[in-house]
Amino acid sequence: MTSSTSLQPKITIVGYGSQGRAHALNLRDSGFDVTVGLRPGGPTEAKAQADGFVVKAPAEAVKDADLVAVLTPDMVQQKLYEDVLHANLKQGAVLLFAHGLNVHFDMIKPREDLDVILVAPKGPGALVRREYEIGRGVPCIYAVYQDKSGQAEQFALTYAGGLGGARANIIKTTFKEETETDLFGEQAVLCGGASSLVQAGFETLVEAGYQPEIAYYEVLHELKLIVDLFYEGGVTRMLEFISETAQYGDFVSGPRVIDASVKARMKDVLTDIQNGTFVRNWKAEYDAGLPNYKKFQQADKDHAIEKVGAELRAKMVWLQANTQNDAAKA
Ligand code: NAD
Ligand code: MG
Repeated sequence: MTSSTSLQPKITIVGYGSQGRAHALNLRDSGFDVTVGLRPGGPTEAKAQADGFVVKAPAEAVKDADLVAVLTPDMVQQKLYEDVLHANLKQGAVLLFAHGLNVHFDMIKPREDLDVILVAPKGPGALVRREYEIGRGVPCIYAVYQDKSGQAEQFALTYAGGLGGARANIIKTTFKEETETDLFGEQAVLCGGASSLVQAGFETLVEAGYQPEIAYYEVLHELKLIVDLFYEGGVTRMLEFISETAQYGDFVSGPRVIDASVKARMKDVLTDIQNGTFVRNWKAEYDAGLPNYKKFQQADKDHAIEKVGAELRAKMVWLQANTQNDAAKA
């Protein structure tokens, strides 16, 4: 295993959704031989064919692949492994995941002859593709769970490089660290935390009698401008761009809203992730046909901020061009 080894694995990508499409296109543009594995007649088959890929049923597609990337939804991966991959992966192949959940929580127990690795871009698929196309990349983290060939780490670095991740940064992690931090981030801060913060702020203003349109611009629209500053230069850069009044308000009111009790509950969320409670509940919900998931999803879609948001975004015509672009790419 030397970093000068040049590997050129024949790659099969199973799944052509958010990550699958971006990985397949980037790796092909980086010079790899890429096949796509999908259920015949499935929802993304036509898209993969339109993008010029050879699409085969998963069992067929993985048979002669040196490296198989499992990019289906997490909750179907165990069954996919047991029904299809276990029996059809080539001896000594590399099995790659973009999220460690199934392996870390023992839902998939990979064959011993395989290399088992993780390459997780720290961004949604549309961005993984868009950044690559403009000559940049999304940072990637990688891990090795099983190294049968002695080259598992090199395979992970080769794949991450092919995605464009090396242009940004590549960091070594473990399946445990990737799985637990990824779940925590999306639950407490990025998706769950941010959307609940925005909804609560909107409700507070509207319930106090302010116009929903003004509340929308205040707590949702402007958030992008703030996050762009975080992204470019951290909290320091945001503070440089906001007024003294905004800074003083930030200092005295931020910790009133996000106080020690919020942090204590973040620790509870992390504990549930670490001890397997979250994944157990999620699997039970999935196996029951997603009854609560669908209810929660509908409640988010029905929230008053979505209605006023749709009306206000319709006036920003450039947004529609962007959205259509991303839909075509996603
Ligand atoms: P997705 O839902 O966007 O796409 C899933 C794809 O798998 C679709 O093409 C679907 O048709 C196909 N599929 C579903 N069931 C299948 C089956 N039984 N056999 C074959 N194909 C099947 O999924 P995604 O969001 O890209 O997630 C894929 C993986 O990437 C997950 O492990 C996820 O945790 C990880 N990940 C996702 C993101 C993200 O931004 N979405 C970021 C990092 C990592
Ligand atoms: Mg995730």
